[in-house]
Parts: sequence; structure tokens; C-alpha cells
Amino acid sequence: MDCLFCKIVNGEIPSKKVYEDDLVYSFYDIEPQAPFHILIIPKKHITSALEIDDSNKDIVGHIFKVAAEIAKEHNIAEGGYRLVTNVGKDGGQTVGHMHFHMLGGRNLQWPPG
Ligand code: 5GP
Ligand code: ZN
Repeated sequence: MDCLFCKIVNGEIPSKKVYEDDLVYSFYDIEPQAPFHILIIPKKHITSALEIDDSNKDIVGHIFKVAAEIAKEHNIAEGGYRLVTNVGKDGGQTVGHMHFHMLGGRNLQWPPG
């Protein structure tokens, strides 16, 4: 499948790895919007959070757990962070492989644009 993030998972496209296990891969965003900006993605292709159902919902909890571990390791646990997944056109999704942005290291505004 011609998917950018599948290619990052299998190493066809290089990335700066933050974390990896059997289920997920995490790497630095190429265009950081905060001092700390990484993406956490399932290794298995899921187009977006709209595809989450009973067969694959466990991955979402796993991603949140991994994010908490990364936060503690990268010293953003205390300051806090934002974990967000954009879905579809109006959600601002530009890559069709579900990914969670993890942003921290500065005071993030709400609501987002
Ligand atoms: P979206 O807009 O779909 O929510 O987020 C896609 C994110 O992927 C963007 O923040 C963008 O900077 C990042 N991105 C796009 N292409 C690449 C790439 O080749 N490598 C890395 N590390 N990040 C990418
Ligand atoms: Zn993919």
C-alpha cells in the first residue's frame, strides 16, 4: 500500500525514532509545532480514528499508555501535553494513517485554529 507512515514504520522512509514496540512506532514530527512534537502511530495500517471498532480499539488505549511513558521520559509530564488525532478533511488530517500528535514544552492555546 502506498502509505507514507507505513513506509516510515518499515524503514523505507527514514525518521527520528522516539519509541517502538510490537504494536506502535513513535517519531519526531518533521514540522514541529511545539518544542516537543512527536507522532505515535499503530504499526498496522488504520486510515483514521473513524476506522476504530471492536476489532482494533485496544490500540488506542495502548497509544495513550505509551504517551504517558514518553512524557515521563522526556520531562513533559509535569508541564503537561496534548494528545490529538485529526480525522478527515475538516479535522485537518493530511496523512491517511492514523496518528496521534503529542505536543508539549510550551503553553498550548485552546481552542486550536
Ligand atoms: P496531520 O495533518 O495528518 O494530522 O499530521 C500529519 C503530520 O505528519 C504533520 O504534522 C506533518 O508535519 C507530519 N509529517 C508529514 N510527512 C512527514 C514525514 O515524512 N516525516 C515526519 N517525521 N513527519 C511527517
Ligand atoms: Zn499506513
